[in-house]
Amino acid sequence: MKFKFEFEEEMWKKAAFCARCGTCRTVHAEQIEGQETGWQCPSGTNYFFESYYPSGRNYTAVALQRGQLDWSERVVDAIYSCTTCGFCQYTCERINVLKPTDIIRWMRAKAIEAGVGPLPAQRVIAQNLDAYDNPWGQPRTRRTNWTRGLGFKIKDLSKGKEKAEVLFYPGCTYAYDPRITEYIRDTARLMHEAGVDFGILGNAEKCCGSTAFNLGYVKLLEKYGSDNIETFNNLGIKTVVTPCAGCYNTIKNVYAQLGECQYETKHTVVMLAELIEQKMLKPIHPVNTIVTYHDPCHLGRHGKIYDAPREILKSIPGITLIEMNRIREYAFCCGGGGGARTGKLDFALATARRRIKEAEGTGAKLLVTACPFCEQNFLDYMDASGSKLELVDVVKLLKQSIFGEQDEKKKEAG
Ligand code: SF4
Ligand code: SF4
Repeated sequence: MKFKFEFEEEMWKKAAFCARCGTCRTVHAEQIEGQETGWQCPSGTNYFFESYYPSGRNYTAVALQRGQLDWSERVVDAIYSCTTCGFCQYTCERINVLKPTDIIRWMRAKAIEAGVGPLPAQRVIAQNLDAYDNPWGQPRTRRTNWTRGLGFKIKDLSKGKEKAEVLFYPGCTYAYDPRITEYIRDTARLMHEAGVDFGILGNAEKCCGSTAFNLGYVKLLEKYGSDNIETFNNLGIKTVVTPCAGCYNTIKNVYAQLGECQYETKHTVVMLAELIEQKMLKPIHPVNTIVTYHDPCHLGRHGKIYDAPREILKSIPGITLIEMNRIREYAFCCGGGGGARTGKLDFALATARRRIKEAEGTGAKLLVTACPFCEQNFLDYMDASGSKLELVDVVKLLKQSIFGEQDEKKKEAG
């Protein structure tokens, strides 16, 4: 299965339509609060040179295509200093014909074709995928360690002997990072509690290809996309449920350009909000706290899911949600996407600092989100800075409200 960018042959011509109006650099009129939260492109905000803004990258694309500019370390650095947050695309689609975030991914694919991309520190992602089928270099045999001690057995659908229409696909980051693995255990418990008939692919689960695609490795996307689409279709899966914003956007939107997907894709928060609505899950125990919610870029702007996580929070007695100024389509990025954490950790953490400062300003005790990359990046910054804010996935708060803290402690102990 071959992936083709929309406007593949025309991409650089589209880039030439950039008017350098600067609208994609800052928040829009109704969001203006002050300088501190006024700048919206994480990359331009951090580096402050034209080449690191969407407009500069558009002009770089045109100059490269026309042969007016050669690939150089500086050019590659500018192209890979983008979190693929999608704010420029959201903005420009409303005022012009460009898709600047797609243009950046396309330039990265060109950089790989030319043998100059990605950044040296990011090359390990492709090496790990080749060796282990996950970007983090973890053994395949450890992929399902998170299922141990759950107190119930999850079906392994990979061999076709056990059957279920719902596939829970945790993705590589939740499966392997011990700091956030509890959130997929929480999700499995909630699905079990609600009586959802579901299974997993066990150690046969492979990466969705999202991290590779965001770095420009189109062939790796084609490989993992083809494998996964074939597996999901052959197993008769009707619904793929994933807690990862990157997997969600890739399996739902990018795979649709690769082949026929005979299943629907849901992010965990959508499934959980539906289960609450259908009274299959009843949040009854109060969780008395004040929270603010961070919209992950790949769930929000890329996936257009804004309401479901807020509906879950509103269903939990005792929770007060105080919103930040920049939310939903205007949410500021966590800094962790687009390969930034692997390639440019300083930039990723500087972006996290800006978002956490905004979250702290609400007076909330908890910063709630629903994406493993946001969670990793926020946790790294919080650990280093000693922020008083605590990070939690929305699913953990729901679990506390369903089971109650005492019940839950007993379950963990037993
Ligand atoms: S990418 Fe679009 S919004 Fe941004 S400067 Fe160019 S024309 Fe303006
Ligand atoms: S995707 Fe985000 S970080 Fe990248 S250029 Fe656009 S606004 Fe800036």
